Amino acid sequence: MATERTLSIIKPDATRRNLTGAINERFEIRGLKIVAQKRIHLTLGQAQKFYQIHKERAFYDDLCKYMTSGPVVVQVLEGEQAITENRSIMGATNPANADEGTIRKDFGESVEANSVHGS
Ligand code: ADP
Ligand code: MG
Repeated sequence: MATERTLSIIKPDATRRNLTGAINERFEIRGLKIVAQKRIHLTLGQAQKFYQIHKERAFYDDLCKYMTSGPVVVQVLEGEQAITENRSIMGATNPANADEGTIRKDFGESVEANSVHGS
């Protein structure tokens, strides 16, 4: 087993609904430590650079706009197999397809506004 660190972002739909604490609880219950976090407002340029890999996708422009629509909480999660573990805690990209008990199932509003990023 390996201790890993992984990037997590609590997205604008979640900060808008005051879900930062509820989401952080999901990480902590599963044994991930929040070793750093900061609430920031992304610029459009930062969002575009961050999601550059998706720039040919139809949803890219809207996604970048959404990611700048309110504050986000950028954080570093640490723990055993943190990368795989965080994916499991988050659930599938589309909340409609996410497993019961995952963050995206319980809090996500749509395939775009799905409350958390992990990578
Ligand atoms: P994940 O965040 O699960 O790694 P992707 O890397 O495929 O998912 O997509 C990045 C983000 O883009 C998603 O979290 C979501 O906010 C948005 N997104 C993905 N697919 C769609 C889509 N079909 N329509 C709108 N937004 C999408
Ligand atoms: Mg991705």
